[in-house]
Amino acid sequence: MMRIKADTRLCVGSGQCVLTEPAVFDQDDDGIVALLTDHPDDQSAAQAHHAVTLCPSRALSILQE
Ligand code: SF4
Repeated sequence: MMRIKADTRLCVGSGQCVLTEPAVFDQDDDGIVALLTDHPDDQSAAQAHHAVTLCPSRALSILQE
């Protein structure tokens, strides 16, 4: 199963992830990424994976469980 990990120390708040898959990613009041879930369902998995590749600060990663 795919698990998303977000390193909030690296996030620069660009919002790419939220624009790409709003079912998985959100931003807090400071614009820093907040995960709505760290286990995307099948419907969200491809877009979540895409969001990880788009993140400009490499704050996002995927773990396989
Ligand atoms: S795309 Fe990366 S840098 Fe931008 S808000 Fe999401 S986690 Fe943060």
